[in-house]
This record gives sequence, C-alpha cells and structure tokens, in this order.
Amino acid sequence: PQHVTDQFYALNEMTIRGFAPKPILTFDEIQFPTSIRNVIHQLGYIRPTPIQSQAWPILLSGQDLVGIAQTGSGKTLSFILPALIHSAGQTNARSGDPLVLILAPTRELAQQIQGVGADFCAATNARSTCIYGGAPKPPQKREIRYGLEVCIATPGRLLDFVREKTINLDRVTFLVLDEADRMLDMGFEPQIRKIVKCIRPDRQTTMFSATWPKEVQKLASDFMTNCAHITLGKAVL
Ligand code: ADP
Ligand code: MG
Repeated sequence: PQHVTDQFYALNEMTIRGFAPKPILTFDEIQFPTSIRNVIHQLGYIRPTPIQSQAWPILLSGQDLVGIAQTGSGKTLSFILPALIHSAGQTNARSGDPLVLILAPTRELAQQIQGVGADFCAATNARSTCIYGGAPKPPQKREIRYGLEVCIATPGRLLDFVREKTINLDRVTFLVLDEADRMLDMGFEPQIRKIVKCIRPDRQTTMFSATWPKEVQKLASDFMTNCAHITLGKAVL
C-alpha cells in the first residue's frame, strides 16, 4: 500500500523523480533466479539496502536509472544483480564479447566492484574482467581474449583497447557509470563520451554519483532518456 512506500521513503530520506515501481522491502519480494538467491543466503544478507530496494525493481523493469548516494550504501549489488540477470537472458550470452560494461574512476574501485560481485558472477557463470591503466596491457589483453561477459573498466585504458580493436563493445546492452562525479573530476569526460558512442543506443543505462553537479546532470541527460532518479540522504537535487 502507498503509505508503506511513503514511510519507506521518509525513513530512508529517499526522493524519487520520474516513474518508479514500488520499492521491495525483502529479498523474497524480488524475482531473482535461485543461483542469486543462494549467494545472498550464503553471504548472510538479511535485507536489501535502501538503494537496492528501489534500484532493483527499476532496473529489472528495464528502465534507466540515476542514483545519487554516498559510499557504503550498497550501490554495487544494486546494479550488478540486474546486470547479471540481463546478461544471462541474452541469446548467445557466452560469445566472449562483453554484454555488461561498468565504467569506474580508478583501478581500486574497479577491483572493488569485481570483488563485491564475484560470488554472484560465479553463480551465474559470468566472467568479469577488470581493465585499468597504469599496468601492463598484455595480461589484460589475454583475459579479454579468453572471453568475458562483464567488463569493469577505467575509461582511458578501455578506450585504448577499443581503438586497438582488442575489445569489441558491439554487444554491450547494459551500461553502468559508477562514481560519475569522480570520473568527471579526473578528466575522463572525453573518453567516456567516445566509449558511449560505441555502445548501442538501445542499451539500458545506469549512472551513480555521490553528488549531482551540472556536469553530471548533462552527462545523464545526454546518455539517458526517461530515467528514474533516486536520491538518498541529504544530497540535493
Ligand atoms: P557503495 O558502492 O555504495 O559504496 P558497496 O556496493 O561497495 O557500497 O557495498 C558495501 C558493502 O556492503 C559490500 O561489501 C557489500 O558486499 C555489502 N552489502 C551490499 N549489499 C548488502 C546487503 N543487502 N546486506 C548486507 N551487506 C551488503
Ligand atoms: Mg561503489
């Protein structure tokens, strides 16, 4: 009922803009495959975090999403689980070319995303690979050659690989920009724009940011149409 949803928003200081299906309050309310349910159970998670409660129904319905939330709110699983479900549902899902692309500002953050998602990737037979600069290319190229479903990358090195035709982004249909404000602070905007140009326009796009300055808003309006916005806590819209 509406009052339960309103109470949830008030309690979690959550603001929604755009259309959003109602938040789910327990893991049982969401249609996750058994493989994913089992991992949630093994990890001992008791309930979804507020961002997951609202992001999962939005992303599973195929809608684009902007999430504005601080670190430690459980953003990684809020996009990784819908990404894995999306990826498993594609025909010829294991062709070796990525179906999911996650852009992150640094090597550390890319590896953190991979770590949080690891058990879920394993359970759904998705191979994830981290691509980042400041490290030799050959080991990363080798991993790409072996095949991957989920690519977690910093923009500079990924663009190098796109230009060298080491990686092919033609099959990416689920795109995530994590920590978008930090990527812009680091000067990655030109690389991000070039990468996104290579990705099918009929993709599903998700963007997360701790803050919501003009530059991030512009990126969101250029990359997404008809998206829902979730703002958590005191971040200003
Ligand atoms: P953020 O990206 O918002 O900073 P993360 O996605 O990295 O946060 O999540 C922080 C930690 O919380 C991770 O170690 C993750 O495994 C854990 N976590 C995520 N969702 C839940 C949950 N529903 N219950 C308990 N722990 C969770
Ligand atoms: Mg994060």
